[in-house]
Amino acid sequence: MMKKKIKSVISLLSVVDRLKNIYAGGAVMYSKRSRKIHPYVPGEQPSDRVYIKLNANENPYPPVPDFKKVISDFDYSLYARYPDPECGLLSEKIAKLLNVEKDMVFCGNGSDEVLSFVFYAFFDDDKPLLSPEFSYSFYPVYSEFYGIPLKRIPLAPDYSVDLDGYLGGDSSGVIFANPNAPTGINLSCEYIRNFLTRYSGDKIVVVDEAYVDFGGESVIPLLKDFNNLVVLRTFSKSGSFAGGRLGFAVSSPENIGVLKAVKNSFNHFPVDILAQKLGITICENWDYYKENALKIAFTRDNFSRELKRLGFDVLPSKANFVFVKKTGIPGKTLYEIAKEEGFLIRYFDIPGIRDFVRISVGTDNEMKGLIEIFKRNFSRL
Ligand SMILES: *Cc1c(COP(=O)(O)O)cnc(C)c1O
Repeated sequence: MMKKKIKSVISLLSVVDRLKNIYAGGAVMYSKRSRKIHPYVPGEQPSDRVYIKLNANENPYPPVPDFKKVISDFDYSLYARYPDPECGLLSEKIAKLLNVEKDMVFCGNGSDEVLSFVFYAFFDDDKPLLSPEFSYSFYPVYSEFYGIPLKRIPLAPDYSVDLDGYLGGDSSGVIFANPNAPTGINLSCEYIRNFLTRYSGDKIVVVDEAYVDFGGESVIPLLKDFNNLVVLRTFSKSGSFAGGRLGFAVSSPENIGVLKAVKNSFNHFPVDILAQKLGITICENWDYYKENALKIAFTRDNFSRELKRLGFDVLPSKANFVFVKKTGIPGKTLYEIAKEEGFLIRYFDIPGIRDFVRISVGTDNEMKGLIEIFKRNFSRL
């Protein structure tokens, strides 16, 4: 009996020993590049209980019911073959929806991937890329990844992107989200046009329109006047397709050609065959998605009014989230109150926005639930 136990302890020890040899800490040399990276941290996805997820700006509504038929009719034998590397049919459908030419569309595996190609294709390491002090937090991650210096320009006192601050001084380009994240504030197309006429015409300006369908104003009509404009879109938010990974850039055929060359130097086939099919289904049913976006905008505005009634400061959002604070209560506390009650929202441990939380807009009922929780907890505080 005792012998058996000793034996098993010994064999366990030898397994540990072997593992130690395989994973000899510190013995492996990683590249200088990989030792320097600071990866993007997405909204948490805990599995300890069921949460209402209002922390990643996902769409609360499911994809169009046609998905069911497209998926069940899908000829799975096609999976043995490579997909169309240029997403030809999908690009055509997107182009039609946006009223541009097919060769002005570049599809990728989520707009995060398209962003990666954009950084590689258009910005250099010798002059700073200009971006808002607070914007999508993947921009600094890619800047560092590609060795592109990033100059972060302060927001205006009302937290809007102040494009006057991007003029003068040398730069290799500009990138910002519109509506911006995490503020939700939208700039008008006219204001951006005015900026483009004053900014250097041979440097790329990227406008990331991830949230434009919830009430923002697109700059796609400006593409015909500005060859240096690149518009970024995604199906992750308004397309209820975060899990399918589909994003795209819209720009001049020349700029799109450069993005294709970069893609073909990295991964020839980034968009999988079923994602292309489902992307086409999204385009063909765009009215369904537009209606959901309208519903979300309506819920957002009601939710914002209720928050104001509870004494919150609410930035005027045109996105599917709101950026809010309540004087005297740190963002982290608001986050903890919500999490305790089964709601995930997001706070940022960053100087300047620590007081805020970013709350994605879910269904009417979910937002009513969260309002009740705040009411209940604030009367206790
Ligand atoms: C969500 C988001 C993206 C990335 O979307 P994916 O297509 O899911 O990669 C890009 N830009 C902004 C501003 C976003 O909020």
